[in-house]
Amino acid sequence: MSYDVLVIGGGPAGLSAAINIRARGKSALVVTNSIEENPLWKSERVENYLGLPGVTGAELLTVMQKHAEDDGVEFLTGKALSASFMMDEWYVSVGSDVQEAKAVVLAAGVARGKKFPGEAEFLGRGVSYCATCDGMLYRGKPVAVLGYSKAARHEAEFLQGIGCEAHYFDRPRDCVISGEEKVEQVVCGGETVKVAGVFILRPAMAPTDLFPGLGIENGYVQVDRRMATGLPGVFAAGDCTGGPLQVSKATGEGLIAGQSAAAYVDALARKQ
Ligand SMILES: Cc1cc2nc3c(=O)[nH]c(=O)nc-3n(C[C@H](O)[C@H](O)[C@H](O)COP(=O)(O)OP(=O)(O)OC[C@H]3O[C@@H](n4cnc5c(N)ncnc54)[C@H](O)[C@@H]3O)c2cc1C
Repeated sequence: MSYDVLVIGGGPAGLSAAINIRARGKSALVVTNSIEENPLWKSERVENYLGLPGVTGAELLTVMQKHAEDDGVEFLTGKALSASFMMDEWYVSVGSDVQEAKAVVLAAGVARGKKFPGEAEFLGRGVSYCATCDGMLYRGKPVAVLGYSKAARHEAEFLQGIGCEAHYFDRPRDCVISGEEKVEQVVCGGETVKVAGVFILRPAMAPTDLFPGLGIENGYVQVDRRMATGLPGVFAAGDCTGGPLQVSKATGEGLIAGQSAAAYVDALARKQ
């Protein structure tokens, strides 16, 4: 099925975009990590969100998600891994599935943590961001799992279950990946392991890993006043577009991005 708009990220920006897409009569699919993995979930008090002083981050996210569900927004739990554009359609891979939409709102927050030395160089040659997609390639072989979320532990168990010899590193800060043609070893926190593959399971991806060619300025996604990026049908909102990194700014930009994405879908329909 092709959705009108696919939203990447179920935080305040993505949820605000999604309800405003629905308000324009369009279908919306939010692809997101679980709500507990949202950074705001840990906030004990949000003091400056208008009308709800003192609410916890978990309470705020829960009511926002319920609002979106009540408005008919669909949800898919998982991590968007890559996106490609063909014949006016976006194809976004989520785990081993592909979702299709006419427009995309990128509301993925900020990707914390820098890439490790060797990570970009060996991507596709031993480095992977998705255990369920690439795990079978490493059956019977040793792999390292660098996990930064609760879901990462399950992915390590999945790898073990299909016959990989999985070495789990819990939130390692300093790692180096090396080899000749393919990955041969990883060194994390001084521990060296000989491996055929390295699964790096962060909750968020760098926007340019998802959308090569996306304009970036000072580390943030470049947008215009409609929250349009330079890519056709791709809009961005919230922390990923820059500061202030605050909920009110995220929901405001989500509104604009959602409306702009809906208008883009209407214009596309008139063109066809
Ligand atoms: C501890 C803490 C306290 C805070 N307190 C306040 C406060 O008091 N007031 C205030 O205004 N702001 C506060 N903030 C900031 C606020 O949380 C952010 O500004 C806001 O959440 C940004 O919303 P967003 O939707 O842009 O991004 P996020 O809320 O970060 O949402 C993005 C979501 O997308 C998911 N995601 C990322 N990449 C992918 C992918 N590839 N596939 C699927 N899902 C993906 C992420 O896991 C995340 O759940 C606080 C933040 C923290 C961490």
